[in-house]
Amino acid sequence: MSAAPDCQRCGACCAQFRVSFYWAEADDARGGTVPVALTRPVGPLHRCMAGTETRPVRCVALQGEVGRAVACGIYTLRASTCREVQPGDTQCRKARAAHGLG
Ligand code: SF4
Ligand code: SF4
Repeated sequence: MSAAPDCQRCGACCAQFRVSFYWAEADDARGGTVPVALTRPVGPLHRCMAGTETRPVRCVALQGEVGRAVACGIYTLRASTCREVQPGDTQCRKARAAHGLG
């Protein structure tokens, strides 16, 4: 079994999918954390990270170069959707494959 990939040398999942979540995860709602200025509306009840609603996909909060060295600029404030992806899971493997990172 191979080791899980290193997110700080990857970032593929932040540059592959529309990263959407319930609107109240943004900081204009009580208890919300995601900076609302970095989000875009997705229907009446959801939002997504800006940059993930168009192609090519790249979250506005992603810093660095995919596949080399990256960081999330809002790491402690990121949405549940971002927290759910785990290195080595299906979403991760799909994103990495799409970026040629195997
Ligand atoms: S979860 Fe996977 S695709 Fe996302 S940054 Fe980490 S290693 Fe890359
Ligand atoms: S908020 Fe951070 S973890 Fe979430 S998609 Fe953007 S860069 Fe990736």
